[in-house]
Amino acid sequence: MQAPVMVLNANTKRESGRKAQLGNIAAAKAVADIIRTTLGPRSMLKMLLDATGGIVLTNDGNAILREIDVSHPAAKSMIELSRTQDEQVGDGTTSVIILSGEMLHVAEPLLEKNFHPTVICRGYLKALDDAIATIDRISFPIDTNDRQQMINIIQSCIGTKFTNRFGSLMSELALDAVQTVSVDLGAGKREIDIKKYAKIEKIPGGRIEDCRVLKGVMFNKDVVAPGKMKRRIEHPRIMLLDCPLEYKKGENQTNVELTKEEDWATLLQMEEEWIQKTCKQIASFKPDVVITEKGLSDLATHFLSKAGITAIRRIRKTDNNRIARAVGATIVNRPEELKESDIGTGAGLFEVQKLGDEYFTFIVDCENPKACTVLLRGASKDVLNEVERNLHDAMGVARNVVIDPKLVPGGGAVELSVAAEIKEKAEAIEGVEQYPYKAVGQALEVIPRTLAQNCGVNVIRVMTALQAKHANGANTTFGINGNTGEIVDMKELGVWEPYAVKVQTIKTAIEAACMLLRIDDILSGIKKKQ
Ligand code: ADP
Repeated sequence: MQAPVMVLNANTKRESGRKAQLGNIAAAKAVADIIRTTLGPRSMLKMLLDATGGIVLTNDGNAILREIDVSHPAAKSMIELSRTQDEQVGDGTTSVIILSGEMLHVAEPLLEKNFHPTVICRGYLKALDDAIATIDRISFPIDTNDRQQMINIIQSCIGTKFTNRFGSLMSELALDAVQTVSVDLGAGKREIDIKKYAKIEKIPGGRIEDCRVLKGVMFNKDVVAPGKMKRRIEHPRIMLLDCPLEYKKGENQTNVELTKEEDWATLLQMEEEWIQKTCKQIASFKPDVVITEKGLSDLATHFLSKAGITAIRRIRKTDNNRIARAVGATIVNRPEELKESDIGTGAGLFEVQKLGDEYFTFIVDCENPKACTVLLRGASKDVLNEVERNLHDAMGVARNVVIDPKLVPGGGAVELSVAAEIKEKAEAIEGVEQYPYKAVGQALEVIPRTLAQNCGVNVIRVMTALQAKHANGANTTFGINGNTGEIVDMKELGVWEPYAVKVQTIKTAIEAACMLLRIDDILSGIKKKQ
């Protein structure tokens, strides 16, 4: 008798083959089931309790998944999907989870019939290509220069998120902010970096109607010497620095040993001379405003204010970057290397204002800002936080439609059109791939089905009627009215979704499903990486 060969360590647990696959599917389905009822306008709320008894009430799929604690690895990777979707396109976070859960659900009978996961994935990916082609065909182009149309579109896309009456204001702010920071890169490409260049500043007080997108930048700072420096300058020349204007500190700790009293005097004198020289250099460019990220000593303040220069110190790097972009300046590290072209002259007004108890610096009326601050006012911090979250979603939508100005009908209409087309094309596909291909069509119907379910109507009746409407590629804009559960033309209801979001949602869902299907072994208790 041969002795048994031990390959895996005794505490490594192994789950393999069908068991691992079905386990993953069950976990993914469980995650999808949790948030299924939060899709669409008639979504239910979830009450989440944490260990300390804190309660969160929300109907945002992504927020729910962020809060809950799961242990199964496949469930964790599903939750990760929703986060990625939120980061990449900022919307469709609930849909992507429901859809990928369903993609796995329809794979279950195929696995039971001994379909190899590779075959299933091939069928899925083929269906994905065809789905994208269909979405391309039924999408509508929009005119990004038509402001009113753009605002309506943004408002209809974020319809499910807004329960307040400020939807149109949010859409206007979002569109203004996105159009301000949008840069044409040529060849039909655009760069819109909301995170970096459109900053939201919340100042409690005032009314919601006072919210606005500045044609420039605002930050929470006052001038260094309020009595001696001007607080309002029209058409300022702005110089931006990221070096200190004070005695030089060593990188870490510096000890200077002095033996004679005169040396101390010399040291102080040298410092004074250095600051005077630097300030002179700065003043020779005749800036009206000097802004630095680092410190500015009393001595430097003295020299600058004597030269009639207004100075601001210790602003954040991110704010400095925004100012640079808004006024056309370059941030300089060494004053001795200053050039005329480094000075920003694009701003119309520099002004320090007192709002509430604090001073804020406004650099506004810029000719061509390319960076902006969105100023939010509202009764309290909580109101402002809610407005900020809503605005963040609205900016995501605005960004998507400005970058890729195409829309698809919502309410499950686009999913039904794709499903109908896939069913039709499936017959022409040779071999066993036909079955997984067809399954994708079946899975896509989960979106309209869930919308109908959440309205509490007879799902089978509504779905059959909708499938009949979509047969042969007709009535591509018919879907579910998310409020009543009736069948409507989305053109009339005005529910649209950005093309980019829909494509990304379907792509992510299918690719994630394929990835989970290809796992045939779960090994736990493996060695930690050193
Ligand atoms: P997500 O986080 O995936 O964006 P939502 O809860 O915002 O989830 O739901 C979006 C889905 O609801 C989309 O499929 C959209 O088409 C649909 N929807 C939104 N409003 C309506 C409406 N008034 N009628 C029908 N469907 C709607």
